[in-house]
Amino acid sequence: MTPANSGNTIFGKIIRREIPADILYEDDLCLAFRDVNPQAPTHVLVIPKKPLTDLSAASTEDKALLGHLLITVKDVAAQLGLTESGYRVVINTGKDGGQTVFHLHLHILGGRSLQWPPG
Ligand code: 5GP
Repeated sequence: MTPANSGNTIFGKIIRREIPADILYEDDLCLAFRDVNPQAPTHVLVIPKKPLTDLSAASTEDKALLGHLLITVKDVAAQLGLTESGYRVVINTGKDGGQTVFHLHLHILGGRSLQWPPG
């Protein structure tokens, strides 16, 4: 995935460094950066560079990419010291899922005890 075809959302702009973000990790396939409006003491987003609009847009050909995103979530959470205390991984999908940015992203939320069920 080249930066040029990383999509037209705000996250595409972050991938292309057109707007700033507090980037914690990057490789050929994905990027992890702090959420600008954190809902927990630690709130990080992990996104693919491929501009999938949401989880529903993923297909079998994205199987390895989706696995890579989850392994990256686990590694970034460990880097942030969340492994022992735990954390939540969220993929808001579509209107009822509360998705606001239409570029697939995995939220990592940690640093406090989270309630269940979510609102
Ligand atoms: P969603 O509601 O789509 O699951 O999550 C989108 C997330 O992106 C929100 O938590 C929101 O705070 C975050 N966000 C939106 N715009 C920006 C931005 O420009 N920079 C960063 N770092 N996060 C953003």
